[in-house]
Amino acid sequence: MRRRWLKRGMALCMLFAIYLLSREGAILTAKTGAESRGLIMIDSGHGGIDPGVVGIGGLQEKEVNLEIARYLEKELKKEGYEVLLTREADMGLYDEDSRNKKVQDMQNRCAMIQEKKPLLTVSIHQNSYEDQEVCGPQVFYYTHSVKGATLAKCIQEELNQQLKVENPRVEKGNSTYYLLKRSEGVLNIVETGFLTNPREAELLATKEYQQKCAKAICHGILKFLKTVEMNSENMV
Ligand SMILES: [Zn+2]
Repeated sequence: MRRRWLKRGMALCMLFAIYLLSREGAILTAKTGAESRGLIMIDSGHGGIDPGVVGIGGLQEKEVNLEIARYLEKELKKEGYEVLLTREADMGLYDEDSRNKKVQDMQNRCAMIQEKKPLLTVSIHQNSYEDQEVCGPQVFYYTHSVKGATLAKCIQEELNQQLKVENPRVEKGNSTYYLLKRSEGVLNIVETGFLTNPREAELLATKEYQQKCAKAICHGILKFLKTVEMNSENMV
């Protein structure tokens, strides 16, 4: 009789243990499913009436920017970040009846950043120059931002390495670009290449190269966030 009760007791204990384990499992799953590591904003430069640089073969900057932005969104989401794009289609952030669409567009991009307060923002652009030989990625940060400079260094280095740039540039401070000057928080302008360089324009039109650029930018962002985490007290 006693042995039977003992057996029943043990069976109950086991059932309870299984219940606890499955419950914990469910909580863990729920946590990983719901928790984000934070919001990252991707600004895809130009759009709508503003094509940005029109490069070799009529390649439009606004299209290349949006493709890279979308690939970058995927990469960051894989890493557990929430991502917001300032535009998801070929459109500007202005009203059709606006008198100055370009100004309204830039103001709205800044307003979005101000409202959403992301961990950081990267604004994707393409470069141009009269000398067709000039090529390679270039990252800009607001001159007076320590975190901006660190992010730019991380992204520039990744782009230089992963795109195997022959004459690598270093990140550059700037205090006149509207978005750098007027936006809140950490922001970089990332010019992934020159649409006026025949070889680079050809590459930037391909899905493979756009993905490569996105992966490099993503690695740069991850490296930056790790650095910030480690030195959070010393950085402004
Ligand atoms: Zn641009």
